[in-house]
Formats: sequence, structure tokens, C-alpha cells
Amino acid sequence: MAIVGAGLVGLIVAERLTALLPGVQVLVVEATSRLGGLCASQWNEHLGVNVHPRGTHVLATSSRRVWTYIAANTRVIPYRHRVYASYQGELVPLPLGLEAVQAVYGADLDAERARVLVERDAAPYRGKAPLTVEDAALASVGPRLYEAFVHGHVTKQWGVDPAKLSPEVFTSRFGLTYTRDNQYYPDARYQGLPAGGWGSMLHRLADRPGIRLELGRAASAEDPPEYARACVVTSPIDAWFGFDRGALERRSLAVEWRRTPASEAPRAATVTHPDPAVPYYRTHAPGLLPGGGPTVTDSTALVGYERHGPGEYQVDFVLRSPANQQLADTYRARARQLANGGLLFAGRGATFYDDMGTSIAAALTCATTLARRLRTP
Ligand SMILES: Cc1cc2nc3c(=O)[nH]c(=O)nc-3n(C[C@H](O)[C@H](O)[C@H](O)COP(=O)(O)OP(=O)(O)OC[C@H]3O[C@@H](n4cnc5c(N)ncnc54)[C@H](O)[C@@H]3O)c2cc1C
Repeated sequence: MAIVGAGLVGLIVAERLTALLPGVQVLVVEATSRLGGLCASQWNEHLGVNVHPRGTHVLATSSRRVWTYIAANTRVIPYRHRVYASYQGELVPLPLGLEAVQAVYGADLDAERARVLVERDAAPYRGKAPLTVEDAALASVGPRLYEAFVHGHVTKQWGVDPAKLSPEVFTSRFGLTYTRDNQYYPDARYQGLPAGGWGSMLHRLADRPGIRLELGRAASAEDPPEYARACVVTSPIDAWFGFDRGALERRSLAVEWRRTPASEAPRAATVTHPDPAVPYYRTHAPGLLPGGGPTVTDSTALVGYERHGPGEYQVDFVLRSPANQQLADTYRARARQLANGGLLFAGRGATFYDDMGTSIAAALTCATTLARRLRTP
């Protein structure tokens, strides 16, 4: 058995296989020199906590199976995540709710009046299927909320005009309610953070008998890891095939970590900054998360400034455009044909945008399916 990529998905599949198939040997090859992929965490002396250098990672899921698995492998600190947008010096809860409408249309509006005003502004943009983020956003929240909270946010996050991105960029992240419920994931039954950081949990998963790690090895279809019956690939799908049908168009985000005077530090753990005049699109203040170790005692706070472009803690992501979706489907169709030969594609390398809950569920299913198959002679 082999696995390509030692991120969340690769390591959960590896751990599960060794638990489900006693005696199995799993080789995990990882291109970089460290474990954890996007979920890697690092000890930070300043805060005395584990920091996720590629940005805050909160698990929010309604899947009992996912939650039970994680809780069996780390102590979870229950925490319901809140994310805010910085708008004219105020923090407005996301997803958009009554407070966002009040910030733009007037503080004294009640929910009914707020709905009437937004519906009136959005009505001219309805009646046709949305083709872009801009279409979807204008039809859903109207031009004023779009300009205040969506346009700058999306442009700075993706480095592309929202009129060029697929509507799912809006529908998967934004929405509008007329309530004051300021939870970022209001529908997720279970939410929390791992007590020692995701990286510590993933190191423990990798440290099981039967798992062998090979760091610093980039695998591909041309140079696959040795395996007898099955190989799970979690690395980027187009790179696996040597980009032979073309490379998916990607953008980068990077988080730059700085000690910031406490008076200038954000007042919430995760804040987005839709204002085009602000160079970064999101800030992370891990000291404000629960379980964040000792409170910062000096006059500075550690803040991660996330902006479009390259950097030390860079994350590449596939642009959500119709052309990319088509190309991705071509690679995925090709990947499916290889499944009977034991090559399975899983994780962000093939799905691109899954959150941790979905990624963990996929990893558990992948391991169960594979174990069943491998038990059959
Ligand atoms: C900025 C950001 C913030 C996020 N925040 C949250 C959050 O708060 N909550 C949430 O639920 N989800 C969040 N997510 C999603 C979460 O990070 C993913 O669901 C999860 O990390 C996916 O894990 P993975 O193993 O599929 O991918 P990855 O973590 O990308 O792991 C893939 C691994 O494969 C390795 N690799 C790549 N190419 C090769 C190769 N050729 N050979 C060998 N190895 C290779 C990589 O180095 C990496 O270690 C966030 C994602 C991003 C981008």
C-alpha cells in the first residue's frame, strides 16, 4: 500500500488502513520535508501555543463519524467559530446577517424592513441563471452589500475580478440571513479545535506501527511510489499526470506573521478586510482562540496577514472558473478509469475546496473501501 501526500487525508487513510488491516505496511511519500500539508501546525514561543501558519483551521461538521474519529485521536476544545468583516472600523459578523444590513443601510432597521430594502435592490439582478460571482452576489444581496462585503473580499482573495469567477465562490461562502446569529457555521453540530494543534495530531497518526514515511519525495504517474495492490494519491491531480492535458490555473495566498502592537491587532481571531485600500484580505490572531495557552502578557500580539501572492506560508489553490472546472473534470474522469487498477484519488488534490469535515469523511470512506477490497484475495 502506498499513499502520496502526508496531509490530513493521506495520514488518516494511512492510520485507518493500519487499524483495519493488521499487519499491513503503508508507505507514505511526501514532497516536502514536513507532515500535515495545509493543516501543519508549529509551536510559537511568543504565544506559547501551536499556530497554524497557513491560517486558522476550525473543524465544523455535523458528521458524528468525523467527530468521533477526531475526538478519539486528540483532545478537542469545543469552540463555535466566529468570523468578522472589518467595515468602516466596525466588526460585522459573517456570514452576512442583520448587522451587515444595518451597517450599510442604517442602524435602526428591523429584520422586516432590512429584507424589504435588500430585496428591492437585488430584484433588478434576478431572473437569469448566474454565470459569475458578481451575478450570484448581486441577485442575492444587491449592489450595496456586494460592494461593502463581497467585491473587495473576493478580488483580494482570488486576485481576479469577481465577474470572472464561477458563482459557487459566492454561494459556497456567502449568504444572507436577517438574524443576529453570528456563528460562522451555524448549522454544524460539532465544532472545535485540537488541543495541541492539528500538526500534533497528524504526527501521532503517522507514528503508528506499519506506517513508513518518506519525506522530500515528489511522486507522479511517471515516478510512482512502489505499491503492490493500491495507491491513494492526494497530490494535485494535474501534476500527477504531468500536466499533459494542461495545467489548472492557480492562484496563491500567503500568510505573513508579524508581532503587532496590541493596540493595532485585530479584535477577533479571524477578520476579513474587504476594503480595497487594505493590502491583506484576512487576518488571523491565534492568541484570541480558546485554548490559546497563556494570555499574551507583553504589548504585542502575533498576527497573520493573509494576502494574495507568493510567500513563506503559501497556499496554492485552483481558480474557480468554468475553464478550470472543465479541465479538472477531464483529469477526474481519467483518474476514475484507474481505480480498478488500484490507483485512487482523494483529498484536496482532486477536489480542491473541501473543508476538513468533508476531507476527513472522504478519508474514512476511502480507507474503509480499500480495506474491504484488500481483504478480498
Ligand atoms: C487557507 C485555507 C484555510 C482553511 N481553513 C479551514 C478551516 O478553518 N476549516 C476547515 O474545515 N477547512 C479549512 N481548510 C481546508 C483544509 O485545509 C483541507 O480540507 C485539508 O487540509 C485537505 O487535506 P489534504 O490532505 O487533502 O490536502 P493537503 O493538506 O494539501 O495535503 C496534500 C499533501 O500532499 C503533498 N504533496 C503534493 N504534491 C506531492 C507529490 N507530488 N508527491 C508527494 N506529496 C505531495 C503536499 O505537500 C501535502 O502535504 C482551509 C484551506 C485553506 C486553503
